[in-house]
Amino acid sequence: MIYIHNAILYTPEKKIDRGALLVCGEAVAALGSEDELPCPTGAECIDADGMTLVPGFIDLQINGAFGMDFTTDPETIWQVGERLLQYGVTSFLPTIVSSLPETIHHAQAVLHLGPPAGYRGARVLGLHLEGPYLNPEKRGAHNPEYITLPDRLVYEEWSPPNHVRMVTLAPEMSGSLPAIQALVQNGVVVGAGHSQADLSQAKAGFEAGISYGTHLFNAMPPLDYRKPGLVGALLEHPHIIAGIIVDGIHVDPTIIKLAWKILGPHRTNLVTDAMAALGMPPGEYQLGGRIVFVDGTTARLEDGRLSGSLLSLDQALRNLIAYTGCDLSEALTTVTQVPARLLHLETTLGNLVIGSRADLVLLTPKAHVAGLWINGRQSLTPVH
Ligand code: ZN
Repeated sequence: MIYIHNAILYTPEKKIDRGALLVCGEAVAALGSEDELPCPTGAECIDADGMTLVPGFIDLQINGAFGMDFTTDPETIWQVGERLLQYGVTSFLPTIVSSLPETIHHAQAVLHLGPPAGYRGARVLGLHLEGPYLNPEKRGAHNPEYITLPDRLVYEEWSPPNHVRMVTLAPEMSGSLPAIQALVQNGVVVGAGHSQADLSQAKAGFEAGISYGTHLFNAMPPLDYRKPGLVGALLEHPHIIAGIIVDGIHVDPTIIKLAWKILGPHRTNLVTDAMAALGMPPGEYQLGGRIVFVDGTTARLEDGRLSGSLLSLDQALRNLIAYTGCDLSEALTTVTQVPARLLHLETTLGNLVIGSRADLVLLTPKAHVAGLWINGRQSLTPVH
């Protein structure tokens, strides 16, 4: 048993100022105010020193990090997973950019095999296949050779048991609507992205089962007051969750502030879209077999197109607070509750509730990661 006390806690209902939380095995067994929940005999007692204890972060879109690219070499998923803990990430969807079916199969096989013995890194919740069913006009850094129309024989195999959790596609392409329906039927979350969908095409996609917008504003036409398009459709919808890359480069901070006013904490999801250069010095890196030039703040193809980010999820959280003036609890929902709800995992991940997995992060007042537990085991020692 682990007992963490003298912590600020945010449960789904309230903030607890001098809170305590008890971990039994791999799950949260109890939580409340320190006065109501004293340290049980025999528990390891940890003083959080007034810091904030929050659920581990979930990144729904990450292409690689630390010099490794998941599409080029899916075996690196586990090595990256171990090192993502430093950013507070306890669950992620390794993202495979537009590829041949055999590349996707390879990544599925790696997840099927599971982590190496003794793995203590972040949970891999399945793949996010970003493409290949994209609009080539909005391909961004994706290789145009691999972008295709939906192929039922390929996508009907994609499901969470087969390690595909999420798919980004362009709803306006021929064959997309039946693909969306089949994927959602299989339990896959479908996001609209790399798309030129107009308002009615976007709405048809939502009707078919799209529940997410992939990196809102990027790789889609800008909001036009006569042609609201996918951006307008995503913003206007009452329930759809929008992923945003809050690095200050992919989307201007003023637009982040504006989008936040519309989406709020329950429909905004921060993603990193990080690529191999996260946590690495400037230089040349890979993204799905293409060379990307990294200058220390941006990652670009030779032609200048942005090609993933160098953003960590804890930095995204701090950026959101800085750009919008929102408070920490609101910002936290965008990397915990919201992605957990999108993936239908809210009873086990993303919320401090009894019975949830003990994936916990200790944050300093300025939202820096100071400690971390995954599955009830300490992986980063609290730094006071
Ligand atoms: Zn993208």
